[in-house]
Amino acid sequence: MTESRQPPFDRIVFDCDSTLSSIEGIDVLGGEHRAEIEALTNAAMAGEVSLDSVYGKRLERIAPSRLQVATLGRTYVENALPGARELVAGLASLGKEVRIVSGGLHLAVVAFGQWLGLQSLHVHAVKIYFDEHSHYRAFEKTSPLARSGGKRELVQSWETKRTAFVGDGITDAEVRDVVSSFICFAGVVKRDEVAAQADAVIEEPNLAKLVDVLCTDAERARLARDPRQRNLVRLADLPA
Ligand SMILES: [Mg+2]
Repeated sequence: MTESRQPPFDRIVFDCDSTLSSIEGIDVLGGEHRAEIEALTNAAMAGEVSLDSVYGKRLERIAPSRLQVATLGRTYVENALPGARELVAGLASLGKEVRIVSGGLHLAVVAFGQWLGLQSLHVHAVKIYFDEHSHYRAFEKTSPLARSGGKRELVQSWETKRTAFVGDGITDAEVRDVVSSFICFAGVVKRDEVAAQADAVIEEPNLAKLVDVLCTDAERARLARDPRQRNLVRLADLPA
């Protein structure tokens, strides 16, 4: 008999871009270079160039300043999906470890994570370095999150726990066989190849709906009894 891919889970991991927030940070930073940035991304997706080389090229083209990356943190917050903050608080109240694993830029994703109520050590993203004028200098080339298969590699390096992973992209789906459950969040973008690998697919842009796949009935009942989590349960119960 294979291990159940149903709740309860001890650890819940979220992708950031197009999962907790409706934006793609690198596109927002792209500004006037957006078309070129997208072409680089597409070349990597088609296997014409490695993701590693594209990651650096995109950043060198954009060369974001510290201020731009800090502003991106606020843009993530302004575009947070409905229920994001309530869901993170609810899962934490049930004693679950909640983390973000993102190929985005650390400074921005950490700011968003803090707004969601996460400890910064539970936010994993790619660091970038600035010069003395706060101009872009380099990115963390050793980060597994700047290459394909990196999310899987990182999750595998942690202490074993019953883990559910929620995301929208191919690099999220790559974790499928190293976690207890992979959930495709298709509330912003639906990719059929990601949905095909998922244990569950959420098609609504309301993160509170994840309560149904991340929690047992008993956990859901605990949330409903807790006055501080009542708003999460109310959002989860909204009709589609
Ligand atoms: Mg994503």
